[in-house]
Amino acid sequence: MVNPEDTVSFGFEQVSAREKAARVRGVFRSVAARYDLMNDLMSAGVHRVWKANLIAKLNPQPGERLIDCAGGTGDISRAFVAAAQKVRARRGGPPASAIVSDINEAMLQAGRARDDAGLMWTVGDAQSLPFPDASADVVTISFGIRNVTDIPRALKDMRRVLRPGGRFACLEFSKPTNGALEVAYDAFSFNVIPPLGGVIANDRASYQYLVESIRRFPDQSKFKAMLETAGFSRVTVTNYTGGIAALHMGWAV
Ligand code: SAM
Repeated sequence: MVNPEDTVSFGFEQVSAREKAARVRGVFRSVAARYDLMNDLMSAGVHRVWKANLIAKLNPQPGERLIDCAGGTGDISRAFVAAAQKVRARRGGPPASAIVSDINEAMLQAGRARDDAGLMWTVGDAQSLPFPDASADVVTISFGIRNVTDIPRALKDMRRVLRPGGRFACLEFSKPTNGALEVAYDAFSFNVIPPLGGVIANDRASYQYLVESIRRFPDQSKFKAMLETAGFSRVTVTNYTGGIAALHMGWAV
């Protein structure tokens, strides 16, 4: 367990855990209004393809309950409910539901303002989720785990709220599998993303943190081992765009 005064990485800096949590809150408070636009610009829309693939693999069903941790503006929850609704239109059954849980009220507000899917929005820290044990059929975290101060603690708590037989999916930036791609991706990340964040979100520093935090995050196999330690079973890894992002999936048994 990480204590508030323990040293952790905030991008390429080493800071106390207390300071990291405060600075991460500051990052997402600052970028919330331009978060969705920046995602589309930085990835040329590719983040939508990765998220659509995550949803296809989850195969949402009528009546299922999703808890989307670090859910931000709600992309995953919206797509989950819509996919379950398509199945429901063919086969019937109760509607699926989704809770967008995030530590940052500003991100939730930005998403709630354009919610036409009846999602539930709640402030919650992924390290100590405000939900009972075994209360979700599906738990997701998309581009969120990297920002959490105590990752093992958050993984354990996400496992706690998943019912036996439930499935877990984590989409996150990861390590490119090809050296040439890694060089090009590094050049793009460090030279394009922070200046773009400066122009579009008026916050270059937050996007500098973003690219640095990606480099600090464990690679595919290390993160898979962390999921297994947290109690997830049958963990699989799917690389997207040559490993720029990776989807880790696991089961609660
Ligand atoms: N899931 C959304 C997506 O895929 O677009 C948003 C991802 S955004 C890059 C990261 C989110 O993690 C932010 O909304 C931030 O507030 C949230 N976050 C950071 N630390 C958190 C924590 N300890 N608990 C819950 N959310 C956290």
